[in-house]
Amino acid sequence: MKIVQVVNSIYNSCSYVLTSDRRTWLVDCGDVDRLLPHIDGELCGVLLTHAHFDHIYGLNHMITLFPRLTVYTCQSGLEGLLSDKLNFSRYYGDPVVLDSPDSVKLVSNGDKVQLFDDVTIQALMTPGHSPDCVTWMTDEVIFTGDCFIPGVKMVTNLPHSDKAQAALSEALIRDLAMTRTVYPGHAPENIE
Ligand SMILES: [Zn+2]
Ligand SMILES: [Zn+2]
Repeated sequence: MKIVQVVNSIYNSCSYVLTSDRRTWLVDCGDVDRLLPHIDGELCGVLLTHAHFDHIYGLNHMITLFPRLTVYTCQSGLEGLLSDKLNFSRYYGDPVVLDSPDSVKLVSNGDKVQLFDDVTIQALMTPGHSPDCVTWMTDEVIFTGDCFIPGVKMVTNLPHSDKAQAALSEALIRDLAMTRTVYPGHAPENIE
């Protein structure tokens, strides 16, 4: 599995392009024009770390290009996708609401998604930064979204943050990250 980091125009959020054998998956979906050149063959799906708008604003456009893709998130992530208030895009001045809820498949803690013949990824519920944070993990890598960004203090002062949950989630992630490569939700200049 090849992994490419794409730094997006909004808040330097990071999306990741996972490819193998002419199939592609994304972790989060920001600037479509920056992601497209890295997509090889079919875009199978998007694994969401959480539904803050800086991680999802490209989704509607991407689904028009790849209508069969599946968006993986948890129940509260779906609620964020459907509410420009919960995903904060309303306050950014460019409301984002998912046009096609049928594209979403819900995951719970420990659920696995088969990405490629030889790669399965696991969803870990890691709330705190927001209620819907999902950390995605394989044996080698971990996609931490805004739950854990090396060298940066986790943002826990948002309206739906929970500092106690965040501390537990961060401890779990730090443990898992000891033996895995960390792919965080932002390049370190600007966090939301
Ligand atoms: Zn973010
Ligand atoms: Zn966030």
